[in-house]
Amino acid sequence: PELREACEDVVRNRRPDATERLLDLAQRYHGGGGSKTREKDLTWREWDVQKRLEHALVNGITEYIVEDTEEARVSADRPLHVIEGPLMAGMNVVGDLFGAGKMFLPQVVKSARVMKQAVAHLLPYMEAEKAAAGDSSAKGKVLMATVKGDVHDIGKNIVGVVLACNNYDIIDLGVMVPASKILETARSEKVDMIGLSGLITPSLDEMAHVASEMEREGFDIPLLIGGATTSRVHTAVKINPRYNRGQTIYVTDASRAVGVVSKLLSDDRLAYAREIGAEYEDVAAKYSRGDKNKRRLSLEAARANPVQVDFRNWQATRPKFFGTKVIEDFTLAEIAEHLDWTPFFQTWEMRGVYPKILEDEKQGAAARALFADAQDMLARIIAEDWFQPRAVIGLWPANRVGDDIRLYTEDSREQELATFYTLRQQVEKREGRPNVALADFIAPVGQDDYIGGFVVTSGPQDHQLAKRFKDENDDYSAIMVQALSDRFAEALAELIHARVRRDHWGYAAGETLTNAELIQETYSGIRPAAGYPAQPDHTEKLTLFRLLDATAATGVELTESMAMWPGSSVSGIYIAHPDAYYFGVAKVEADQAADYARRKGMDLPEVERWLAPVLNYVPAYR
Ligand code: SAH
Repeated sequence: PELREACEDVVRNRRPDATERLLDLAQRYHGGGGSKTREKDLTWREWDVQKRLEHALVNGITEYIVEDTEEARVSADRPLHVIEGPLMAGMNVVGDLFGAGKMFLPQVVKSARVMKQAVAHLLPYMEAEKAAAGDSSAKGKVLMATVKGDVHDIGKNIVGVVLACNNYDIIDLGVMVPASKILETARSEKVDMIGLSGLITPSLDEMAHVASEMEREGFDIPLLIGGATTSRVHTAVKINPRYNRGQTIYVTDASRAVGVVSKLLSDDRLAYAREIGAEYEDVAAKYSRGDKNKRRLSLEAARANPVQVDFRNWQATRPKFFGTKVIEDFTLAEIAEHLDWTPFFQTWEMRGVYPKILEDEKQGAAARALFADAQDMLARIIAEDWFQPRAVIGLWPANRVGDDIRLYTEDSREQELATFYTLRQQVEKREGRPNVALADFIAPVGQDDYIGGFVVTSGPQDHQLAKRFKDENDDYSAIMVQALSDRFAEALAELIHARVRRDHWGYAAGETLTNAELIQETYSGIRPAAGYPAQPDHTEKLTLFRLLDATAATGVELTESMAMWPGSSVSGIYIAHPDAYYFGVAKVEADQAADYARRKGMDLPEVERWLAPVLNYVPAYR
């Protein structure tokens, strides 16, 4: 498929770099037999072993690493000296280049793979030597965990690899780790700091809980916070104040982790912690001041200013069926055609839009190498059926009732099936700007409208595959397979959404969009996801999953924090109206939280717990 695409790119003149790409690819087939060997510059093989090790580390070449490590070992007094000498020297070069922005994360992870395989070769000798036992040269011990209820760990794995190749000892407790286990392990392993990771918003609360527990149990080691929904402000406002004995620090991304960790272990660590502490107090103070200045509306006033969707001149298309449908007629190759690569590069901390990033002056070479590795794995994923994706959709009659969306079993709309609850923006808007709620995009009772829902997943296979790669000292491929599995889930969501619009629901039967247009979501209608800005309440997934019987249909389960397991899963609802758009509810006031709790039949404290990240007040029970 890869070669075909490259040929078609040339024949159909689809991209400016089509020629170069085909020539590159052709190299692999040079000499027949589909052999992948490319004429390589091997002059570096004649250098002395120190230089060779450095070259292999900087360029991520594993081919000769065992042979070269062995040569270095034989001539060294102790195997440990090989690590402390040439290998660390090589990794320092990598670290410097990374710090200077001349190397990028995928290359560093590849270097780490070289390092790990070299160390793996030395390990039996070090164990035989015995003296090396307990004689660890590690600079410090870091415990890392994805918090309870959360399943995402690509970012954490990347940070772990980067720290490990900088000679820190990493204890990775994996995903869904309760506070008690984190603290127990921190104590028994005498770690120097704890790093928490999480992706979904309920994890923010869980991290604050871990911080409180550390305080209560008398810990004073630093606490690092990272992950997609975490931020400096949240860390300063919600986590830092709970843990006074030690310093809490927000770490933006893997490229910052080494700097932060090394400062926290340096002689200046107290001064550094004090500096961060003062900075966070500042941030928290500014935050509470800034918050008071934003003008908020009462729920009643916000409701008086909804989106004025023109339902009178619009008629909803009736879906071809009501109820649920498991969809199975797709192949991995077909899903792969819908992959959105820009977020893939973001996962590897390379920022830029695909395909332009491939030509980027600074990152281009690294991006092309990463992309080529991804294509190689993609070809294997497809050829060897690595993933088992699943999908279920549902379509139902629906109407807006206040800020809620009522679902019915049949056209008659006599029997209610379920209700999706929505939240409304309460910030005071400029003249002419509405206070939106998702319900605004559904026609009110009296006019026929419909809604859909979906859950898709790449399946749990990526976790087993990642583990296998890790066991082979190949974290690069482990991260790659997880990143691609995530991409497949998103692509499947895009593919299924297109089929729903064209076929199952059929409101855009004549739609013909290119893949690029699909990725830009230029089509009519939206698929908002619970836990995202338009519906920050993750518990709406419970209703969706029940309606779709999604766990039975797809194997996807909800954790206690409403994360989807396996992690490479996507869910949401379908709204068809052409005026529908994505927005952020932003902060919710006490009157709306109380009203929402009443409508949902949930206790207020429970609603407040789920909405904690968006509440604009401090709940009474805290
Ligand atoms: N092509 C991207 C798609 C994911 S991001 C990828 O491969 O990663 C876009 C999706 O996020 C949307 O389809 C929607 O499901 C969700 N989303 C984005 N903004 C949202 C918002 N404000 N509220 C709810 N869901 C949102």
